[in-house]
Amino acid sequence: MGTEESSSTATAGVGRCTSLLSARTAERYAQVVHEVVDDLAERFRTVSSPSSGAARHELRERVDAVDLDGDGVGERAALAEAGDLYARHAVWFHLPAYAAHLNCPVAVPAVAAESMLAAINTSVDTYDQSAVATLMERRLIAWTGERIGFADADGVFTSGGTQSNLQALFLAREAALRGDRSARGERMARLRVLTTAASHFSVARSALLLGLPDDAVVSVGTDADGRMAPSALASALRETTDAGDVVMAVVVTAGTTDRGVIDPIAPAADLCDAAGVWLHVDAAYGGGLLVSPTRRGLLDGIERARSVTVDFHKTFFQPVSSSALVVRDPQDLLATAWHADYLNPEVEAAEDDAEPNQVDRSLQTTRRFDALKLWTTLRAIGPDRLGAMVDAVCDLAARVREAMDDDPELRPVGATDLSTVLFRYQPDGVDDATADRLVPLVRRILFQSGRAMVARTVIDGVPCLKLTLLNPDATVDDIAEVLELVRSAAHGLLAGDELTTRDTPPCRDVHPRLRRTSELDATAEGAGR
Ligand SMILES: *Cc1c(COP(=O)(O)O)cnc(C)c1O
Repeated sequence: MGTEESSSTATAGVGRCTSLLSARTAERYAQVVHEVVDDLAERFRTVSSPSSGAARHELRERVDAVDLDGDGVGERAALAEAGDLYARHAVWFHLPAYAAHLNCPVAVPAVAAESMLAAINTSVDTYDQSAVATLMERRLIAWTGERIGFADADGVFTSGGTQSNLQALFLAREAALRGDRSARGERMARLRVLTTAASHFSVARSALLLGLPDDAVVSVGTDADGRMAPSALASALRETTDAGDVVMAVVVTAGTTDRGVIDPIAPAADLCDAAGVWLHVDAAYGGGLLVSPTRRGLLDGIERARSVTVDFHKTFFQPVSSSALVVRDPQDLLATAWHADYLNPEVEAAEDDAEPNQVDRSLQTTRRFDALKLWTTLRAIGPDRLGAMVDAVCDLAARVREAMDDDPELRPVGATDLSTVLFRYQPDGVDDATADRLVPLVRRILFQSGRAMVARTVIDGVPCLKLTLLNPDATVDDIAEVLELVRSAAHGLLAGDELTTRDTPPCRDVHPRLRRTSELDATAEGAGR
């Protein structure tokens, strides 16, 4: 840059007042980030309920009150404001009373790595934008492949199981359509995906996105606990072929989102091998078993899949986002490649010394270096301790489920292979219809109170409450407290007339224990704390 340019007031002035991270702002960056981290550390020390329980209209008012078009307030003020808005009213996954969805507490080294990759802002698309990061990601894909039992895996980190499944089914579609390009449309109309009704919705939506016909996803029968029945898969394979259709893929789920049950993988692999069909294992939830010291056997047969989805942001305790699609045969991944002269020119791809460009393997172009988080976690605590954490949540779920067997009010529903507990509040004397109605109301009351969070779902037509336990530090007593809140909410509902109206009653009317945490705060503040 010429001296005239750097002395030009306009150019230099804009440069000086930006917030961009550089040598000039490095000191300030360190200060600002330390302040944010200190504030968060204090919140982690003190926060005692999964959310503030602030009402939606209250949150909307606060969000709307922020002037996004005004002059900047400065980095410190902006971050303090964000802490007061976002962090204060966030949903915290690290507390045992959070037991709703598949969100995990996160490993400390991974969170620290997150700030590293955010600051450096690597994009793992071409090698010339990422260098060593590409090699580290590729090493972790190979590591995951080894854990699965693939001899020579390839794959890519993705934003989540949804994207991993989409890419897997895209690869399966391309494999099914390989060859004659002329009749693609007609051939595509005959493609079918076989999976159970309990598979993740991203499977059906991927089929839609991939242009398959509306009836492309064929539902395969299950056993009583919702695991794919191999005999039903055998019939479905036969019937699909007899009808003149082509099975593009069989998707088995290693840990269904709702029940955490694992479809029998090896029998499905036998049938797929015999029929020459692509087997995809969606191990978004159950992937953590790859490092489990005691439960790895539940994934037996996964090494015979042609593609596998693993969500590290579920059972590997990684911050969102962190997932991978892994394929057994590197050739299968080639269908993803797309060449752009400015990025990864085709002529260079063929060279012996071609740069390894992850963009060739991904549906994304610019892509986060999420692999760094798993890398640092593995190095910090090792895979065995990660696996022991997975075991801990599975053991916890088994014990919570067991305790319900003797409970006069809570009725467990079905079984799990992982860390889910489904149940209903239904003591003697409460009929099925009332128990059904309690399910969404109890969930809502707990959510609105901010004190505990459970999920709800429908299993075989029956509404159920659901605990998804992903906190290895949670104890049976912690979960018993959550269940106490469930009881309180249900007692309150049964005692009032709320069950006859469609509206959810304000939680404070239901039971004092379920007052919003924000109201309790207000009381404490009012008392001069
Ligand atoms: C969570 C989940 C997904 C979706 O993964 P995201 O990371 O949320 O996109 C897919 N399949 C199963 C079985 C899941 O549990």
